[in-house]
Amino acid sequence: MKCPFCSSLESKVIDSRLAKEDTSIRRRRECLSCKSRFTTYERVEEMELLVIKKGGVREPFDRSKIIAGMIKACEKRPISMEVIENFVSDLERVIQERGDREVESSEIGERVINKLYEIDEVAYVRFASVYRSFKDVNQFLNELTDLLKEKGEQMKLGRKTDSTLHALTLIKDKTKK
Ligand SMILES: [Zn+2]
Repeated sequence: MKCPFCSSLESKVIDSRLAKEDTSIRRRRECLSCKSRFTTYERVEEMELLVIKKGGVREPFDRSKIIAGMIKACEKRPISMEVIENFVSDLERVIQERGDREVESSEIGERVINKLYEIDEVAYVRFASVYRSFKDVNQFLNELTDLLKEKGEQMKLGRKTDSTLHALTLIKDKTKK
């Protein structure tokens, strides 16, 4: 930090505190050459993340909205709030770390779906059926069957696939009525 009086680059911080709005840190410095004192403000560069919706409309990334959608899907399922919140934080970080300021809403949706598939098949089916808003249940079931086949081959996880199929059967029964 260049001293405004003598342009020396050496200074020491003598006091540091949050500025009024808490979005910056105010530092009192003393130049090591001329002993003049000056103040600097350090501010986190705020990077607003935008979500590109289907029609191309942008809106600010809203973590509470994603969390709300997941909570709804996870209703009465053994999934802690912590798991959901950590996931959304990770999601936000992943997007920001690759330097993007915009993300397609479809990517968010797919990531949420994949996460739910990992942690709870019932929540997964609930979310996927709402999110993808399929024209009819069959279209959804077809896609799901493909996905299950794929997953089954990949992971050879019989138990998980079985419970997913069970969840599907429940949905199928419901829609028949
Ligand atoms: Zn100086």
